[in-house]
Amino acid sequence: MVEITPIPAFNDNYIWLLRHPDRLHAVVVDPGDAAPVVQRLRQDGLELEAILITHKHGDHVGGVRELKRIWPEALVYGPANEPIPALEKALGEGDRVDLAGVGASFSVLDVPGHTEGHIAYLGEQGVFCGDTLFTAGCGRVFSGTHAQLHQSLQRLAGLPAETRVYCAHEYTLDNLGFAEWVEPENQDLLQRRRDAEALRADARPTVPSTVQLELLTNPFLRSGVPQVIAAAEHYAGRRLTSPTEIFTAIRSWKDREYD
Ligand code: ZN
Ligand code: FE
Repeated sequence: MVEITPIPAFNDNYIWLLRHPDRLHAVVVDPGDAAPVVQRLRQDGLELEAILITHKHGDHVGGVRELKRIWPEALVYGPANEPIPALEKALGEGDRVDLAGVGASFSVLDVPGHTEGHIAYLGEQGVFCGDTLFTAGCGRVFSGTHAQLHQSLQRLAGLPAETRVYCAHEYTLDNLGFAEWVEPENQDLLQRRRDAEALRADARPTVPSTVQLELLTNPFLRSGVPQVIAAAEHYAGRRLTSPTEIFTAIRSWKDREYD
């Protein structure tokens, strides 16, 4: 069974490291910076087999060229619809990625919205979802649309409840603050804050979470919940009739007033 651990980068990015417990191969997801990856792989005596990219932003692709220079045999996988440095395996919905060296395989989901061509990698009881679904939040809409991001989040929300959510940033505590604006009386949210604060006080990651925990606490997956609808309508100052309108209002509210 593949082992998955985070390599912290920049202020709050996680570069996910995949390795087989008995072999010396490694795969990384979204290496925005090469240095911490090189350090970890050298320390553990690992050879880089592949690089998986979810989307084009610099904090996810900035280390690709340097890693390819050091490990030229590492294959670069990424979205077909975005400019990715050194891309060799262009992926879209339904494609498969088999990583024999680390003993893992994934299927590809198109999850546009944060960017127009964002993809996610689903497999090994988890999903690497980049900046689409965050713990207790979601990515901003940059080069996609709100309707796309809402639909992509709905797809992720429909994965089996125990699916682990490996997003690319440690944003949980910050996101929980906004989630509490939306649903101040959600007891699961208050419990999640206590759990997350305990982890962070120990300098431990709050990621991965699970689809189940996101369904209970993430306002961007809860456009059908009466308290979320009421909060969205209060912010918008009018009745909102579709889940996408409710999602869009909540996203805009966070963008304009929270961070
Ligand atoms: Zn991004
Ligand atoms: Fe990012």
